[in-house]
Amino acid sequence: MKHVNVALFVVHKGCPHKCTFCDQRSITGFARELTPRDVEEAARTALNSLDGETAAGGEIAFFGGSFTMVRREYMLSLLESAYPFVRDGLFKGIRISTRPDGIDDEICGILKRYGVTAVELGAQSLNNRVLLMNERGHTAEQVVSAFNMLKGYGFETGLQMMTGLYGSDDEDSIETAQKIIALKPDTVRIYPTVVLENTKLNALMKEGKYSPLGVEEAVDLCAKLIPMFENEGITVIRVGLHSGGDVEEEFTGGAYHPALRELCEGRIYRNTAYEILKDLPQGEYTLCVGAGMASRMAGHKKCNTAFFEEKGYRIKIIQDNSLNKYEVKVR
Ligand code: SF4
Repeated sequence: MKHVNVALFVVHKGCPHKCTFCDQRSITGFARELTPRDVEEAARTALNSLDGETAAGGEIAFFGGSFTMVRREYMLSLLESAYPFVRDGLFKGIRISTRPDGIDDEICGILKRYGVTAVELGAQSLNNRVLLMNERGHTAEQVVSAFNMLKGYGFETGLQMMTGLYGSDDEDSIETAQKIIALKPDTVRIYPTVVLENTKLNALMKEGKYSPLGVEEAVDLCAKLIPMFENEGITVIRVGLHSGGDVEEEFTGGAYHPALRELCEGRIYRNTAYEILKDLPQGEYTLCVGAGMASRMAGHKKCNTAFFEEKGYRIKIIQDNSLNKYEVKVR
């Protein structure tokens, strides 16, 4: 069944932190604060446009990254607005995302009481040096202890990681992924760093102290990370920042692409097929891939087909429903 989220963005006005990648000015200055009425209206609008069964499998999702750290009465007012929809079985649950230092027993109790079912933690990295250099204001140990507490309370858990942060390289991103896998979250989101205008990263980039990873490098790295998670049964629910908002206007560097996940999945297929083809003589081959995966094999704007052509392999792609995701057979 199609999974539906009523996605609501909670800005953290007055956030005391200054993460290097975050555009505090747009967060604290201009963005309009979500109101309890907005929550109710968004949920009702979704209910009117969905059939009951689809909505009942969906979630009301509060994104923004610091849900449990906004003013307490404000957080409660949003939950109070969302909870009746869950209590009455109109939606499956409520999903929130927050910082690791925004989790304690009292908060977990409140979240349980208001029908929150899934909690995602913005870990960003599990390397303390990278966390410190990016002024996250929490440690890797805090991520682990908040995560374990959430598990203990029976929440569905998610961890979010970033790649290409200041002071980070592919190696520590892979280590972070390994540590995340050891924790066994239900879901993961991977956000390659996008540099925005009014951020510390932008200043560091201008001073020549930071070179963000571009789209190509981020795709290479994420094409390794995604299978690491998925092979362990951890669902990767997002790769790359959502388009829209102010991202397009404020983007100054880094790995922003509206179809980043598609690019990464195409790269996974290309890597898998090339591993086989590189040992075969140049010529014409048929690549078999699983159901619905032919476009991923061909790559974004057929870039994989062009890649193989350049290497002397003319490829034809066919679908073989017996194959799993990312599996390729060469004929
Ligand atoms: S990303 Fe960091 S600075 Fe920005 S709102 Fe979240 S905690 Fe605050």
